[in-house]
Amino acid sequence: MKCKVCKRPAVINLRAQNRGLCASCFDAYVLDRVERTIKRFRMFSRRERILIAVSGGKDSLALWDVLVRLGYAATGLFIDLGISKEGYSARSYEAARSFAHERGLTLLVERLKDWWGKGIEDIGCKILCPICGMAKRYLTNRVAVEGGYHVLCTGHNLDDEAAVLLLNLLNWQIGYLARQAPVLEPWHRKLSRKVKPMVLLTEKETALYAMLRGIRYVMEACPYAQGATSLFYKRILNRIEYRSPGTKQRFYTLFVRYNKLFKGIAQQEREGLQECEMCGQPTQERVCAFCRFKEERDGDLGREVSEGDKV
Ligand code: SF4
Ligand SMILES: [Zn+2]
Ligand SMILES: [Zn+2]
Repeated sequence: MKCKVCKRPAVINLRAQNRGLCASCFDAYVLDRVERTIKRFRMFSRRERILIAVSGGKDSLALWDVLVRLGYAATGLFIDLGISKEGYSARSYEAARSFAHERGLTLLVERLKDWWGKGIEDIGCKILCPICGMAKRYLTNRVAVEGGYHVLCTGHNLDDEAAVLLLNLLNWQIGYLARQAPVLEPWHRKLSRKVKPMVLLTEKETALYAMLRGIRYVMEACPYAQGATSLFYKRILNRIEYRSPGTKQRFYTLFVRYNKLFKGIAQQEREGLQECEMCGQPTQERVCAFCRFKEERDGDLGREVSEGDKV
């Protein structure tokens, strides 16, 4: 297959767009796609301070690389969850640290153990992801707001967003649907503005970009990801995409166009928001989920993270 732009050998076949691209045209395509996404959804400008949640995986490191190349002022934030199984947190940190060091970028680090006195594996729950996700949202939001950053960026790609959308639609999770957008405006002074500049690039595209740029990221998934429901939905969507290229993008972008239909519901949720009695962060409970998990003893856990805590 040849590159549709310059006729050199293609390194990727973008089936949804019915064209192949060579390495250098693909690189230009990724930069252009991210820049267009930033502009289309009015995410941020080159004058603003940007915080990127960096996991050490391909998406967040590729995002950081793209933003720096495009001239945006971006600082990284790594949340050390204390996952010792297969040395996951240590390896993830090393990938993020060496990426930042080699490029002279600033990487902030927050350790869950410093907040809870224990890592995510020590909380005594069989399914870690909901609690882990809640802790990451809490800490990234807090650092972004208290550090005076204009936006908090995450490396979510099209596959991530389409999988979550399918899951939320199948369960008619209206509250989550109302909040799923490339830009989430803050509706409380202690909430950061959240943006997803990679949302129109697929997982395959971000992986190839990272590989072509020589980014050393953690390839293996988190050892607790096996049970993650999102992986199941990603596989289903990939099968649909294989049969009907372009479905994933249509599914997500049309949803973004119409998700204002859920705005009224989002408004109701915002009205129920109060400040946690312990830490002062926004929550719909008296005490937020982060503080509840911090306080409770091992064995007394397992309570679900409520929808109201997904601020
Ligand atoms: S897979 Fe689950 S436990 Fe692992 S980092 Fe992601 S959310 Fe946390
Ligand atoms: Zn080319
Ligand atoms: Zn709290």
